[in-house]
Amino acid sequence: MSLANGRTYLAIPGPSAMPDRVLRAMHRAAPNIYEGEIEVLAADLVRDLKKVALTQYHCGIYISNGHGLWEAVNTNLFSRGDTALVMATGRFGHGWADYARRMGINVEVLDFGLKAPADAGQLEAALRADTDHKIKAVFVTHMDTATSIRNDIPAMRAAIDAAGHPALLAVDCIASLACDEFRMDDWGVDIMISASQKGLMVPPGLGFLFASDKAVEAGKSADLRTPYWDWTPRLFPKFVYEYFGGTSPTHHMFGLRESLDMIAEEGLENVWARHAALSEALWAAFDAWSAGGHDIALNVADPSLRSHSVTAARFGGGNAQRLRKWLENEAGVTLGIGLGMAEPGTPEIDSFLRVAHMGHVNTHMVLGVIASMEAGLQALDIPHGTGGVAAAAAVIARHSR
Ligand SMILES: *Cc1c(COP(=O)(O)O)cnc(C)c1O
Repeated sequence: MSLANGRTYLAIPGPSAMPDRVLRAMHRAAPNIYEGEIEVLAADLVRDLKKVALTQYHCGIYISNGHGLWEAVNTNLFSRGDTALVMATGRFGHGWADYARRMGINVEVLDFGLKAPADAGQLEAALRADTDHKIKAVFVTHMDTATSIRNDIPAMRAAIDAAGHPALLAVDCIASLACDEFRMDDWGVDIMISASQKGLMVPPGLGFLFASDKAVEAGKSADLRTPYWDWTPRLFPKFVYEYFGGTSPTHHMFGLRESLDMIAEEGLENVWARHAALSEALWAAFDAWSAGGHDIALNVADPSLRSHSVTAARFGGGNAQRLRKWLENEAGVTLGIGLGMAEPGTPEIDSFLRVAHMGHVNTHMVLGVIASMEAGLQALDIPHGTGGVAAAAAVIARHSR
């Protein structure tokens, strides 16, 4: 007998859970897209997105998922043959590098593998070696959603400055914005990209690009720029149609208005703290399950290097896939597949999964996932240490005191 009926929970790293408030805000007739309400709405969204990015500079919105935003950065910054240096800590860093390469940009990659963060010392050395200043920008993923490694962005800026190199710092915050602490201006970030369907709790379909004055200036000579992706009208719109290069994404805008209000009501720092506490609860459960030498492990050993919005883990012997299937069929919970941890289609990839805890998540959602996972481990006779649920509950109790 399946016990999956009830409200299902997609605990994968995007699309994240959508608040009822966001869905309700989208349930209405389309507005006039030429004037009136829509003009105010567009300007207010840009203003409030900048508050979440903690930047005083510029924000543009694309009708796109996150992949499109990689292309938006590439097209606005580079000319054919320019060089980008990519700090790769998982599948998403390599993805951005691949997009750049296929657009005719010369890409250098520092690959830190699947378990280590980007190393500031290696970045500094690479920039010092670039005496002609060929490298125009350094790309880094704040949080690589495949490995769940979180990179130290201020350390990247410090390395660029220590090398005395003019390269721009461009950061992919698609899976971390409004989940993990990020301060664009304080951290010296020139370009940041994000998307609607993760920490921002809106359906997939909007991508956000933030650029400093320095980035706008540096991009002026870019010959890879194409009409739709050109950031100029989006960052500096004179008419409402320029915000989106055509028809406004009306209903996504209503949803985003609501989600930005929710973030403001909670307070950005409280949003970060909630994600941190819930992550800690999940990690405590994993520590209990893996105790005693069982083949269960978090991908990132050092808690200070772990993402607060998604957790990548191993359940050896193909048990990650068995557990995922059990959870979906028997408990109504869908976890993320392992990404980039082994070749797709090989038995080895079945030993990896990811648990998302991003956006509209609270104690009962995360404890529900943990308890469901523990039930699945028992039902499938997967060897594991006991007490995962109790360990997680203790973390939550400590945070509420
Ligand atoms: C999800 C994600 C992307 C890709 O976004 P899509 O909306 O799936 O195209 C890129 N980078 C990171 C870090 C992500 O988490």
